[in-house]
Amino acid sequence: MMMKLTISKVTSRARLGVVTSLGQNGEKKLEVPGCLLYTKTASPPHLTHDTLQTIEGVPPVAHVTLATLAEHQEVLEEYKEGVGKFAGLSDTVLYCSVNDPVTPSPSGYNTNKKALKVDWFQCLSDGEVMPQGFTRKRAKKSVDRSLGYLDECLQLLAENEDLKQKVVIGAIEGGDLLEERLRSARETSKRPVGGFLLDGFQEISMSRETKLQIISSVTAELPEDKPRLIHGVGRPDEVLDCIECGVDLFDSSFPYEVTERGCALSFDHHFQPDPETAGGHQSPDRAPVSYVLDKDEIDNDDRNGEEEIKKEDPEIDRSKITSYEICLKEERFREDFRPLLPGCTCYCCRNHTRAYVHHLLASKELLAGILLMIHNFQQYFSFFRSVREALRDGKLEVLKQMIRRQTS
Ligand SMILES: [Zn+2]
Repeated sequence: MMMKLTISKVTSRARLGVVTSLGQNGEKKLEVPGCLLYTKTASPPHLTHDTLQTIEGVPPVAHVTLATLAEHQEVLEEYKEGVGKFAGLSDTVLYCSVNDPVTPSPSGYNTNKKALKVDWFQCLSDGEVMPQGFTRKRAKKSVDRSLGYLDECLQLLAENEDLKQKVVIGAIEGGDLLEERLRSARETSKRPVGGFLLDGFQEISMSRETKLQIISSVTAELPEDKPRLIHGVGRPDEVLDCIECGVDLFDSSFPYEVTERGCALSFDHHFQPDPETAGGHQSPDRAPVSYVLDKDEIDNDDRNGEEEIKKEDPEIDRSKITSYEICLKEERFREDFRPLLPGCTCYCCRNHTRAYVHHLLASKELLAGILLMIHNFQQYFSFFRSVREALRDGKLEVLKQMIRRQTS
């Protein structure tokens, strides 16, 4: 049984749909545009199975990275039941990518995938980044080599009973050279892959316009009925850009990175869904809340924000903080008894305050990471739900403007 993507609506290049026949048991489905559940060695960071259950909208596909699993290979071979069961995620579909979007590592891992027993895996590819940019020759070589790996990989699957059910995700390489990217897309499409990974876009330094133009041209070459993934693109504005270029699936390393810097996602993505079509899809947490910050809060945030810049806290790395989050390490939250994001229905926001999380961060309590991860994952998953609702209701432009206003 091959996984299948059914597209229900296309708005310019953005696709609304659902991937079915996922994994071995087949009943799970993954809505697109969407994201995968980011994990470290097959566990969502900071969370136990129980705390993960408190989060709404958890994607049914967990993303494990070969880079974080390589050192456990012997143990997994010995264990024999696969990494999913090993990490307590046996009811989850597992997708294994080569590199970790958070800590890019050099290619060259050659782990025995049989021991991992994942459902989808990214074929090993040659997407090594050239700091000085790609030469034509290097880009051509990366495409040729990746196609070679893919053919070997597909042959291995065809010959091996245990691997027959697996889905191979073909990587599209070619650096910043459009011509090579297109060749990679066309050649990979000819092969029996289950989906495509647009690889290497996070590391290559090119202008936003060039990047989006290449992504758009590449997706135009790909078959309609297979999902397109990208890694390392996580900011809401960049996610929306990619969706508009025909990308379907993202990882959720962004909310993890936000958590690691002691921040909470605080952006508003709740555009007004169309009440007529929204009916059955509304979840109980949606209707009664207002995400509009009151005027007091805005004034307060602005004023304090200016002060904050003057007295730099060495604990806070401002270079990474985006305009979609608040940094709870900041002194201004010491006596702020509001939830992380007013209106959020996550476990953390229902039970705790900004002041409490600030206190946990200041005293380096591990609970800080747990609570922030719960909030950030839930907000991020719910952002993707907003994107799907916007596509369904023809309001993608409204959502885009809303996100743009919060981008700095
Ligand atoms: Zn929350």
